[in-house]
Amino acid sequence: MTEPASPALASQTAIEDAAELVRKAKRAVVLTGAGISTPSGIPDFRSEGTGLWSRDEPLEVASLTTFRVAPERFFEWFRPLAGQIFYAKANAAHRALAQLEEAGHVKMIITQNIDALHQKAGSKCVVETHGTMKTLTCIRCYQKFEAELFLKPFIDDGKIPTCTSCNGILKPDVILFGEQLPHSAWVMAQRAVRHCDLMLVAGSSLEVLPVAGLPVQALDRGAHLIVVNNTPTYVNVRADVVITDDVASILPEITKRALHG
Ligand SMILES: [Zn+2]
Repeated sequence: MTEPASPALASQTAIEDAAELVRKAKRAVVLTGAGISTPSGIPDFRSEGTGLWSRDEPLEVASLTTFRVAPERFFEWFRPLAGQIFYAKANAAHRALAQLEEAGHVKMIITQNIDALHQKAGSKCVVETHGTMKTLTCIRCYQKFEAELFLKPFIDDGKIPTCTSCNGILKPDVILFGEQLPHSAWVMAQRAVRHCDLMLVAGSSLEVLPVAGLPVQALDRGAHLIVVNNTPTYVNVRADVVITDDVASILPEITKRALHG
């Protein structure tokens, strides 16, 4: 009877294979999801068991409908998450991707996250398909505001942000359930995916459409695919390399080997 290869050994081979693909890629695109930010202490609010589901269902409370009819309910639910995001720091996985971009291996990061941790880590080309917490828009006059001025009073004292011109409520520019994706971000993401030669999925379980469909678009055009996520995804069967592990320990390893051999 043959002994199965140890998980650590299997993982080392996969890391080397992934590094080789990254090194050879000319137009790699990275797709990230909540899993890359959980090591920074930000819960995946779409997953049950994170604490954010305990009192209200995000599907209901983080919806455009709730925001329109009972914004105070939305803001009450959003406040702890906003606080976690505001004070969060980028982790080793974010920094590894920023290094790969700086070295010219990664052309774009497409993220489902609203926490701007990729930018905090130094990434330049980041497309936020689910919006951002950096800006707020008045739901009455549509004026846009930098979130910085409003976030701290909201997080510290629960003060709901209001428009300085018309006193309308300011909605964070994050995509709520029931809302369309931001058009320009989605167009940029799709264009990059059509032209990429490698897609690296990092920390996304690929459960939220339409972003979850991007890896298949890349594969259908002949791109290679690497998946690093702590749970299996639906495209694992078609991937060149699959590493089912923590992104914060694996991405720095791949990056180290891709950059320094
Ligand atoms: Zn206004």
